[in-house]
Amino acid sequence: MGHSNKNKVVTTVKGKCRVCYTCVRECPVKAIKIIDGQAEVLSERCIGCGNCVSVCSQNAKVALDLKEEVMSLLRNSEKKVVALLAPSFPAEFTEIGDYRKVVGMVRKLGFDKIQEVSFGADLVAGKYKELLEKSDEKGYISSDCPAIVYYVEHYHPAMVDRLAPVASPMVATARLARHIYGDDVYTVFIGPCIAKKAESNEVDEGITFSELRELFEENSITPENTEPSDFDPPRSGMGALFPLSRGLLQNVKKSDNVVEGNIIVDAGKHNFIEAIKEMERGEITGYHLELLCCNGCIMGPGMTSRENFYFKWSQISKYVKMKLQDLDIEQWRKDVEKYGWLIDVSQKFNPMDRREAVPEDEKVEKVLQEIGKLSESDHLNCGACGYEKCYDHAVAIVQGYAEEEMCLPFNIEKLHKYIEELNQTNEKLKNTKLELRHSEKLANMGQISAGIAHELNNPLGVITMYSNILLDELPKGDEKREDAELIVKQAERCRKIVGGLLNFARKNRIKVQEVDIEEFIREGLNSFVAPDNVKVTVSTNLDDPWIMIDPDQMMQVFTNLFKNAVEAMPEGGELKVTVDGNGNNRNVEIRISDTGCGIPEEHKDKLFTPFFTTKDVGKGTGLGLPLVYGIIKMHSGKVRVESNADPEAGPTGTEFIITLPRIA
Ligand code: ADP
Ligand code: MG
Repeated sequence: MGHSNKNKVVTTVKGKCRVCYTCVRECPVKAIKIIDGQAEVLSERCIGCGNCVSVCSQNAKVALDLKEEVMSLLRNSEKKVVALLAPSFPAEFTEIGDYRKVVGMVRKLGFDKIQEVSFGADLVAGKYKELLEKSDEKGYISSDCPAIVYYVEHYHPAMVDRLAPVASPMVATARLARHIYGDDVYTVFIGPCIAKKAESNEVDEGITFSELRELFEENSITPENTEPSDFDPPRSGMGALFPLSRGLLQNVKKSDNVVEGNIIVDAGKHNFIEAIKEMERGEITGYHLELLCCNGCIMGPGMTSRENFYFKWSQISKYVKMKLQDLDIEQWRKDVEKYGWLIDVSQKFNPMDRREAVPEDEKVEKVLQEIGKLSESDHLNCGACGYEKCYDHAVAIVQGYAEEEMCLPFNIEKLHKYIEELNQTNEKLKNTKLELRHSEKLANMGQISAGIAHELNNPLGVITMYSNILLDELPKGDEKREDAELIVKQAERCRKIVGGLLNFARKNRIKVQEVDIEEFIREGLNSFVAPDNVKVTVSTNLDDPWIMIDPDQMMQVFTNLFKNAVEAMPEGGELKVTVDGNGNNRNVEIRISDTGCGIPEEHKDKLFTPFFTTKDVGKGTGLGLPLVYGIIKMHSGKVRVESNADPEAGPTGTEFIITLPRIA
């Protein structure tokens, strides 16, 4: 065939592919490459079976269209054009009752002669019979299906000599046509097969039944406007059964009885591979393989519809029955004998090794790791990617024919991970929100406190001043002195509370400067007078002790925390302060721990709320920790508490942990 494009019998339509991987799954030789989310047919690997064309729901694969080439032969040629009509045509044109109408329509397109390819099948059958009768142990693979022949030539080159050295019925019929009409003819095969378009250069063009229908339509040829016509002789016999699997067998009249027979018949896109592999491994000897890639030619990709297998089957069977009734058996015998003599139906096949080297184990293993196949049990071999095994998929990835995204379990796992991450982020967001609300509350509290404190400060000053004057003026021993002293004491207490409130309210602004934090804490502890029964220890461990803080406010933080610690240890204990960098240079972590009473779980979320105190009236104000919180926040730091108040669960005590960034 003079067309260079014929080694591309199937091509891909860019952009139509929706990556369902059905074509990968259905391609017996994995001649499909998935790249950038698009499937592409690799013509150098393709065996032309056309499965991908049949199964693609998006019509993203198209078979080579040769209608135009055929029409130009018919229009311009000074040579005769001979149609070689495949025997499966009754399964295609089921709506046309009389087969002669179909033949008439083909003739009307402009074909000079119309030959039955089934006569070629009759001739070929004789050769097969000969071959099978004298064959030895080794067994042949039938060579009538071009996809099977390509498969053996490309992928099992060592098995090429096992292909029956017999021409296909199409080629045999083309040779017959040349014999009858002379070398000066064009031959055009019409059938259900895509692979046939590139099978042999002894046939000029090949079109499918679908293309034939389109030509009828374009040329307004209908059964109604067409005179019935018959095939040109010689007429065929049993060869008409050929398109059914077992067809060749029936034709050869070899018993296919499982006990007596020595022929294994199978059809379908995956079965033939298994059969050939087993034969190559020497597991089946003394048997011949009669294999078809499609489920019989009647299910070929060039049929307009690939449904109703049994109906199609019955159409062929009926046609052959009718044909055999009308057949002039004497004439047929004569023809088969005559042309069997005259026409050489032998065929040579050549290995064309297109196998690809299996990539190195390491590379495959690396890819397997990447797609989460870490151990044997991760190899689910689910087939969702189109490859039967995870290993095959990994090999294809290494070879550049597949992508990692094709692995469904891998994607699902990735999705789960994303969801988990999202959940974590959500959780963080929730916490931040809570913190935000908390600081908002504190800010409000601050404003209110500031207001109250201002209002109270003046009258409180007056009360303090006059109660002191009153106390001074009362002579010693006066019984009213006790009352006046109480007023002075309580007024003093009020002043303290108001002072605390003002401090709390003032936390809105800080004035930072560079401070040696270790030194700063030591100083703080020195000026803080701890009771004798409390042991105070400090340990510092910073490479660089200088950080930016507001010393006045930070001192209040530490004094408050020291005070709380001491108040939690009325019977004495240990107050420990540690300062370190917590493994990084950006933060300073200060831990203030005591061995005191601990904080019960139910108090922990109230600690930083203003006025929360567990101490006796007159002792606690509940303003210490809110102040600590406010000041630390102003320094962009964090404060948290770890505490245990349950003696059963181990030693009690509390630790406040402050994290301060070096630069606030
Ligand atoms: P106050 O000390 O005036 O009660 P704070 O705000 O300083 O107010 O503390 C609030 C409460 O937190 C305390 O009353 C106490 O119950 C609890 N608390 C604070 N620090 C400690 C600690 N080191 N050990 C046990 N409880 C503590
Ligand atoms: Mg306190």
